Amino acid sequence: MDTVLLSDSETDLLKAAELIKSGEIVGIPTETVYGLGADASNEEAVRKVFEAKGRPADNPLIVHLADFSQAEEFTAAIPALAYRLAERFCPGPLTMVLPKNDKIPMITSGGLDTVGIRVPSHPVMHRIIQLSGRPIAAPSANTSGYPSPTSADHVMRDMDGKIAAVVDGGSSEFGVESTVISIEGDNSVRILRPGCVTREMLAEICSEVVIDHAILHELEAGQKAASPGMKYKHYSPRADIVMVEGKLEDFIGFVGSHNGDGVYSLIFDTDRENYPYRYMTYGKDSSQQAHQLFQRLRELDDAGAKKVYVRAPSPEGVGLAVYNRLIRAAGFEVIRI
Ligand code: AMP
Ligand code: MG
Repeated sequence: MDTVLLSDSETDLLKAAELIKSGEIVGIPTETVYGLGADASNEEAVRKVFEAKGRPADNPLIVHLADFSQAEEFTAAIPALAYRLAERFCPGPLTMVLPKNDKIPMITSGGLDTVGIRVPSHPVMHRIIQLSGRPIAAPSANTSGYPSPTSADHVMRDMDGKIAAVVDGGSSEFGVESTVISIEGDNSVRILRPGCVTREMLAEICSEVVIDHAILHELEAGQKAASPGMKYKHYSPRADIVMVEGKLEDFIGFVGSHNGDGVYSLIFDTDRENYPYRYMTYGKDSSQQAHQLFQRLRELDDAGAKKVYVRAPSPEGVGLAVYNRLIRAAGFEVIRI
């Protein structure tokens, strides 16, 4: 199949919407990362998404809507807290897991009786949802296991020949996937995947915000994942990633004694002065780190990196999302010095 590169002009967005209506899949920019969009109510289209990504069938897709009020059409019940959260965070990078109804096929929800609902703020994604008139299932548009795409070029590299089209909407604003939450009680939510809607922001709306154990810890054998994506090795480039926690001088000492062919460091912008080994940087604060992380992981592969020692980010605020992606990219290999 020829994968067409579309622009964000109204004519091209109409083409993208028509492709989705006819059961094809399209790479679409969102404010988090690029998504692989398909009609969430069309089983055949959703099957193509799993196939193009090589995604395990039990890893559910998030369903994207133009407005939160449409959630009533696809869910069995919406708690009052969900409406309060929607008022504050929709449109935006927040996904709420809600009980689904039969308009969402089981293949879309990975066999679960719940569905993740999100209202994206990116004007291109928003317009394609409107023009297609469909709920759009869209996982990140990467090959399963590889870092998520934050540009149309990343999507092309992973999906050329496998999908109908990619819409180029520039580089993704946030750079990490949405915050996924479940609603635990009248005033309580659980974060299943951290993102740019942070624990602190959620705590402004509800009194209890639980951080799921699987966000920072490896699941034990046989343990059930509240968020199926957490089971899998994820976000990983070909290079072997190792997180290193400690002060800059200790980090430099550590890399020095492990240096060799294909070894790179991924450090903060503020570390670069006189840094003695081969390195790339990924920003100076959590928001920049989120924005740059996946791009850097891909660039490290392009540069031929075999082993990458990463200065661990602070797991506060948006940093929790960055830390969570990195610890998975590293297969939980964290060295504390
Ligand atoms: P991605 O599509 O790559 O952004 O990944 C979406 C992730 O959201 C999945 O891997 C799950 O971890 C989570 N998710 C989506 N739907 C649900 C659901 N119904 N219940 C729990 N987690 C979900
Ligand atoms: Mg993904």
